[in-house]
Amino acid sequence: METAYWAALAVIVLMGIGTLATTLRQAGPYGRHMTPGQRFTMKARPAWLLFESPQWFSFALTFWLLAPPAASPSSVMLFVFGLWQCHYVYRGLIYPLRMRDTHRQFPLIAVVMGFLFNLLNGFANAYAVGHAEHLMTAAWFSDPRFVVGLVIAVAGWVVNFQADTILINLRSDGFTGYRIPRGGAFRWVSAANYFGEIVWWCGFGLMVWTPAFAVFVFFTLANLMPRALAHHRWYREHFPDYPKSRRAVIPGLL
Ligand code: NDP
Repeated sequence: METAYWAALAVIVLMGIGTLATTLRQAGPYGRHMTPGQRFTMKARPAWLLFESPQWFSFALTFWLLAPPAASPSSVMLFVFGLWQCHYVYRGLIYPLRMRDTHRQFPLIAVVMGFLFNLLNGFANAYAVGHAEHLMTAAWFSDPRFVVGLVIAVAGWVVNFQADTILINLRSDGFTGYRIPRGGAFRWVSAANYFGEIVWWCGFGLMVWTPAFAVFVFFTLANLMPRALAHHRWYREHFPDYPKSRRAVIPGLL
């Protein structure tokens, strides 16, 4: 099983490099960046439900059945397991149900790629959490990496949730186009949701401290940074009154 774990990490790294190389040229073709006349699509809501689902079932099956911890799981492992599952219940179930514009389409190829990535990532991270020696005792709860990581993660999650809510509310009146988002971290960046997401996973990675999480953070950056830059360019092209001081994704920097 350990061989499968390292192989999964290698594949995720390759997927991250491939994603970076392609999305720097052309943003992932969904939402505002969807290719006009795109064929082979499905509705966005079931698409999100489908391609995010492996993160919870792959993680849970690996953690409890496929490659469980040698002894019964420690309290730290159970905490990490719970936090991971809570996040994906939100991202894979509650978030799609909160979406307003239910007619939006999503490309099938992105669903397939997302599903495969999530399957591998859920497996690799569950294996890493279940087999990391430093997570086997409750002493890790007081390690500075755990404490600081948890604080950063919670802050990132709040920023991400608030940004998701601001974007969802932009269409609360039935409008189906795009408006300039304001408030929350949108005061500083165009992609406040991605900024929050990146901070959340960086904090989570610090808290868990495994190679699998480092690889996941790399993939998240490779996936979200180019898309944030593309959103930023798109806003500037489409709104002449777009706030000039706003950056793309990292407040004050990028
Ligand atoms: P987007 O910002 O592209 O879109 C989010 C939602 O808000 C979509 O429904 C979009 O509609 C709508 N929207 C965006 N901007 C506007 C606007 N200016 N006016 C009106 N509506 C708007 O984010 P994603 O769909 O890529 O991601 C959604 C969430 O999932 C985010 O919180 C993100 O962080 C997370 N995510 C995490 C990933 C990871 O690697 N961990 C990967 C991808 C997403 P439409 O679809 O019509 O554009």
